[in-house]
Amino acid sequence: MKGKLKVGIFSFTCDEGCSMVFLEILNQKFFEWNDLIEFKHFRLIQSKSEIKNLDVAFVEGAISTKEELKKIKVIRKNSKKLVLLGSCAISGSPSNLRNFFDEKKKEEIKEIIKKFGHMKKVLAVKEVVKADEEVPGCPMQEEKFVEIVEKFLKEFGVKNASRF
Ligand code: SF4
Repeated sequence: MKGKLKVGIFSFTCDEGCSMVFLEILNQKFFEWNDLIEFKHFRLIQSKSEIKNLDVAFVEGAISTKEELKKIKVIRKNSKKLVLLGSCAISGSPSNLRNFFDEKKKEEIKEIIKKFGHMKKVLAVKEVVKADEEVPGCPMQEEKFVEIVEKFLKEFGVKNASRF
């Protein structure tokens, strides 16, 4: 039996709307999940950050910089399971809007893209690393998210998770 599920919530290029939904879910689930989940990384609730030996990484947003590209690969390497949260992570949209700019607009933003180390094209997380689960929607579907969390609590053999 395992003590707690080690989880990281990671945000890439996006409005962090899916993380906000997660916070709302915690309003309902906090006391149920509190003894079962250990947050190793979740910027919206704590400054502590550890990307090592995670059981599950939940990832929202799209990949738009080389730095993000490097980081998502580190997260994947250090997580047994990776879950895509919302359409930005699954398909890139709507955070990949600039991919669809016309040539004139692309030319206008060229210098900014270069200056801030952005990639030519914004990529979905799914295009870059292998994912184990997806929570569709913009923002993500709450029920599906809860279902996946509770499935992993059981799958990883977390003590007292058998009630789910
Ligand atoms: S999928 Fe929608 S709500 Fe979620 S991060 Fe992207 S834009 Fe925000």
